[in-house]
Amino acid sequence: MSPAPAPARVLVLNSGSSSVKYQLLDMRDGERLAMGLVERIGEETSRFKHTCVTTGAVRESTGPIPDHEAALKAVAEELSKDQLGLDSPELAAIGHRVVHGGQTFTAPTVIDDAVLAEIERLIPVAPLHNPANLVGIRTAMALRPDLPQVAVFDTAFHTTMPESAARYAIDVATADAYRIRRYGFHGTSHAYVSRATANLLGRAPEDVNVIVLHLGNGASASAVEKGRCVETSMGLTPLEGLVMGTRSGDLDPAVIFHLMRVGGMSTDEIDTLLNKKSGLIGLCGDNDMREIRRRIDEGDEQAELAFDIYIHRLKKYIGAYCAVLGKVDAVAFTAGVGENASAVREAAVAGLELLGLEVDGALNAVRSDEPRLISPASGRVAVAVVPTDEELEIATQTYALVGNYNA
Ligand code: ADP
Repeated sequence: MSPAPAPARVLVLNSGSSSVKYQLLDMRDGERLAMGLVERIGEETSRFKHTCVTTGAVRESTGPIPDHEAALKAVAEELSKDQLGLDSPELAAIGHRVVHGGQTFTAPTVIDDAVLAEIERLIPVAPLHNPANLVGIRTAMALRPDLPQVAVFDTAFHTTMPESAARYAIDVATADAYRIRRYGFHGTSHAYVSRATANLLGRAPEDVNVIVLHLGNGASASAVEKGRCVETSMGLTPLEGLVMGTRSGDLDPAVIFHLMRVGGMSTDEIDTLLNKKSGLIGLCGDNDMREIRRRIDEGDEQAELAFDIYIHRLKKYIGAYCAVLGKVDAVAFTAGVGENASAVREAAVAGLELLGLEVDGALNAVRSDEPRLISPASGRVAVAVVPTDEELEIATQTYALVGNYNA
């Protein structure tokens, strides 16, 4: 009798404050077997959508799902219906997205009690995200206590930033007492896309310098030198940096004192203003780039100004990161806006010929899910569109670690 095949499936869980996203992947070929989303957890109208890729079955339901435990149990049940349940011997590990790993976690980590305690200790710097991530982990551990569970941190890729980039210029003792520094986020995406860009160029990640522009609803840039992150635009929280869908990105911190003193606003009101009512939505009432482009085509000046502010900030970062890196081999656009909005890519690079950056109009207009170059053959720096895949990256990191861990 031949021995049972080694388990090769990884379940990736991304537990947000009111949602759980999941994907089940087969790591022999990276194929997706199932995926889904539970939204509005804790409300009467929670929504659940499950897709089994292997059979093509799609099941959707609406109804109260009171908490993350109920959500994960429902996910386990749906997977079981497709013979892909959590009890399957083919499941090698569960990989959890964890937003904040502070300075402690520089790599994916097998979760034990000490790791749970440290993620909990980091809650003050990630009050919105780490508690939800922890609930997801604890529930999954209760469902499969025997299975390795791995935390993959959004911040880990950025822990290679030098102190000169990671520290704010504030009193050192105060910064250290409150763990105030630039951590950066979207790290799994920046890691994946910088490697995939090197791949597209036919070179090793250690041989190239890449600027990654992750432009989704949240947006961040990173400068990656020979495979290591040396600078990124998000900071202590995901609020710093680029203009985003609903976040302001960079602003003079004195704006906050001004709003408190003169505007009489509370801390929570300002938090909401800057995180949820600023960026594109604050500037023009829409945060979807498709809608903004449609309005611009109709001559809407407010939408055009919002677009111009978005592009101006992006250009400043591209220029700054060229200076940080000294030599740039590629600029890669990724995430919802970066992968789809050719107008953003064209405008962000326009006028940067001095930096070696150019976009070929015909190549930029091509729509595809594949990584591709959009710079002309004569361009000194490659400009690329490289679709991100955070779930595959989490699964890959999880599987690589569990392979070693079990060995
Ligand atoms: P997140 O994961 O941060 O929610 P995504 O990476 O999925 O975001 O990006 C979402 C954004 O992508 C949308 O808000 C929208 O602005 C933009 N987007 C998606 N498709 C297109 C498109 N075809 N053209 C322009 N923008 C698009």
